[in-house]
Amino acid sequence: MIFKSINPFSRAIIAEHEVLTNAKLNQKLKISESAFKNWRNTSFQERADKMKKLAHVLRANKDGLGLLITNEMGKILSEGISEVEKSAGNCDFYAENAEKMLKEQQYDTPFRSLSVYDPMGAVFAIMPWNYPFWQVLRYAAPAIMAGNVTLLKHAPNVIGCAKAIENAFLEAGFPEGVFQQITIDIAQVESVIASDIVCGVTLTGSEMAGSSVASLAGKHIKKSVMELGGSDAFIVLNDANLEKAATVATQSRMLNAGQACICAKRIIVAEKVADEFAALFAQKINALQQGNPLQNGINMGPLARLDLAEKLSNQLGKALQQGAKLIVGGMREDCNFQPTLIDFVDSNNIAFQEEIFGPLATIIRAKDENDAVAIANNHRYGLASAIWTEDREKGYRLARKIEAGNVFINSLVRSDSRIPFGGIKKSGYGRELSDIGIKEFMNMKSIIIE
Ligand code: NDP
Repeated sequence: MIFKSINPFSRAIIAEHEVLTNAKLNQKLKISESAFKNWRNTSFQERADKMKKLAHVLRANKDGLGLLITNEMGKILSEGISEVEKSAGNCDFYAENAEKMLKEQQYDTPFRSLSVYDPMGAVFAIMPWNYPFWQVLRYAAPAIMAGNVTLLKHAPNVIGCAKAIENAFLEAGFPEGVFQQITIDIAQVESVIASDIVCGVTLTGSEMAGSSVASLAGKHIKKSVMELGGSDAFIVLNDANLEKAATVATQSRMLNAGQACICAKRIIVAEKVADEFAALFAQKINALQQGNPLQNGINMGPLARLDLAEKLSNQLGKALQQGAKLIVGGMREDCNFQPTLIDFVDSNNIAFQEEIFGPLATIIRAKDENDAVAIANNHRYGLASAIWTEDREKGYRLARKIEAGNVFINSLVRSDSRIPFGGIKKSGYGRELSDIGIKEFMNMKSIIIE
């Protein structure tokens, strides 16, 4: 079986990747096992030196790696290069902080008691195509700094990125088997999860993929972290700075051609300012240039795959049939989807209920701030949210009422190495990044000495 990598803008086949036979997959699992035996005993200093070197290798090659990302999944070149830089930053962060995050902890007991963090084996990661470097380095840098090894099953359209990441690890001096990419299909996933060397599984992707993989992890009693879909609310209140809110809403919805779990997918605006905000938002969306992702001045490339673009067209068609009003855009040619805005979306509309993974912005009008919070919470997903208000105390009070893993007040929702990241409800469970993320796949071992 072969995975084809198709450039979504030119539609040219740019590479073909052979899927591993089961025998070759077993060899890879054995390589992981023997790599773990040594890697778990290395010092933090040795791991950190290599992780710093990896950051250097990524930065030194950011232009070529950015181009690879653009060719495989279509994001504009500057976004691809920034993604590589952000990934390198995460390597530096864990190189510098892993040891203190994992230091032993003493307890207040009449006898001596403490807990230590032991690595557990291979973290199996199933990753999507939308941030093919960031999502990998986000979990891999902490896992490897903690003394674990890892196996990556990347999405079939970004296997070139997976191989480039593996090469970067080797160039940085990591021993063979500490980071391995495995080109496998879904039918082979269970055998990896079942393998004794695999201590847990982390998945970023759709709710459906998460449900299936989490079930397998449960069946084989392996820990899992699920970073799944989202339909993030972006709440604009009466006292918001509307100009700034409209600028950031545009960025938050349209970044990466709208293909991010934390895109602002439901823009919920207080009635009193809705017309003014909608006009500003429409103006900014209208100004975006969609086209060749390698060309200067283009803000947005194509969607990553034709089926994703077709799905988005269907969702838009249905949303309009169900009463939404088209304000800007709406056209599509192959994978190229115009930046689009629809208004007057209600909670029964498909654009409200489903995850919209592309450059389609929706405005939902709310009566007041309590109604806005109720609308935000009236959803199966709970990844992140944004609230726009000049009253920061009110922003904080409302943030406490929001059902989501992250709430940003007056700023762009984004992931940051220093801050825990993850969702609730059908957006998944577990946390990535910060000191919390590094502990997800560790044995917190208590030792009592009398
Ligand atoms: P998927 O969730 O299907 O793919 C993400 C990763 O999960 C890929 O590596 C995929 O591999 C793997 N996967 C999918 N199903 C299974 C399974 N049953 N067992 C094991 N691994 C699995 O996303 P799509 O690319 O198909 O995109 C569909 C929709 O998912 C998007 O429109 C969007 O709504 C959502 N999505 C959300 C993301 C997020 O960050 N929240 C990221 C990507 C997608 P393979 O491709 O081989 O099936």
